[in-house]
Amino acid sequence: MSMLPVGSTIGILGDGQLGRMLASAAARLGFDVVVFGPNEDSPASRVAKHTIVADYTDKDALAEFHVRTNVITLEFENVPVESIQILEDMGATVRPGKTSLEICQDRHLEKQFARGNDIPTAPYWVINSVEDLAAALKELDGKGILKTRRDGYDGHGQARVSKDDNPATAYARIGNQPAVLEAFVPFIGETSGIVARQADGTYTTFEPARNVHKDGILYSSTVPSGFDDETIADTIEYTIRLAKALDHVGVMAAEFFVLENGDIVLNEMAPRVHNSGHWTPEACQVGQFEQHIRAITGWPLIRPRRTVDVEMINLLGDDVFDAFGSDDLVTIYGKREARAGRKMGHVVRRLNLG
Ligand code: ATP
Ligand code: MG
Repeated sequence: MSMLPVGSTIGILGDGQLGRMLASAAARLGFDVVVFGPNEDSPASRVAKHTIVADYTDKDALAEFHVRTNVITLEFENVPVESIQILEDMGATVRPGKTSLEICQDRHLEKQFARGNDIPTAPYWVINSVEDLAAALKELDGKGILKTRRDGYDGHGQARVSKDDNPATAYARIGNQPAVLEAFVPFIGETSGIVARQADGTYTTFEPARNVHKDGILYSSTVPSGFDDETIADTIEYTIRLAKALDHVGVMAAEFFVLENGDIVLNEMAPRVHNSGHWTPEACQVGQFEQHIRAITGWPLIRPRRTVDVEMINLLGDDVFDAFGSDDLVTIYGKREARAGRKMGHVVRRLNLG
């Protein structure tokens, strides 16, 4: 695969903190960045050379984006597949491609895809009506997690259903949208695999972290994870298998539940850099953001050897103003408003510096 020349311009679809960190990594390699997203004054726009503020399917704006860039990537998995199609029809190279988005945007397609690749998921039912939900709940003894098929993040679009809940009320809580009902997975921990894959199939993986969620939002990622060697190997192997099956180009993450016997069950995939990899720039030879830029530009991937034990902790809402200690390495996303539960930044603590 040919390498994108030094000084080329990378387009990023999406304007949040992941775009901001990708743009910073791209700048370090001498690339210019153009951001495309719907928001004025976004976190990514303030570290980019140029920003196009438009709806994702605005054809004129996408044409301008294509003209201004040499390769296009994304930081947001809910960019409409239509936008990628429009860009590709204009002759743009978009990495990752449509398949990664199509599958990862829909919790049913995602689980079906995983199972088709011999990767276990939680038992689940596709829900299109209150009747579907009532029938599925019967098989789950009245308990489960109801999630919208599309557009969920940070625990939004989810409702925990218990025995006393009425199916109609539960379905209304997620807006009566197409959904899946998942069985509760009795996990002893959570982990995630992160792989970077190039167009020629070359890939590298980061060490899986131990992830802790609070209220459906990632709270911390710790490495080493302390999980069994076999659990760690399975996490890496399944993540690579998914990336290959998607023919994914760029960084991709897969989140797993770890069961008591060490087996893992896929929760969900992200066709992009991932919050559970935010420790990598501070702890490894190369971080996930730079590795993503390398993967999509055809630059050689670096072996991401870890040099230190770490803990990454998210700063939500007002935490961003006072949560860091003297030795913590802090990253702040530059959001203008610190709403409760909103990801505002993170800290990385290096645990065995000596
Ligand atoms: P994010 O985008 O931040 O990863 P999300 O909104 O996509 O979050 P999920 O990953 O589906 O949400 O769920 C968030 C967390 O809720 C999980 O990491 C896990 O802790 C818990 N959870 C979700 N589904 C289940 C399940 N079936 N059984 C047990 N716990 C679950
Ligand atoms: Mg998740």
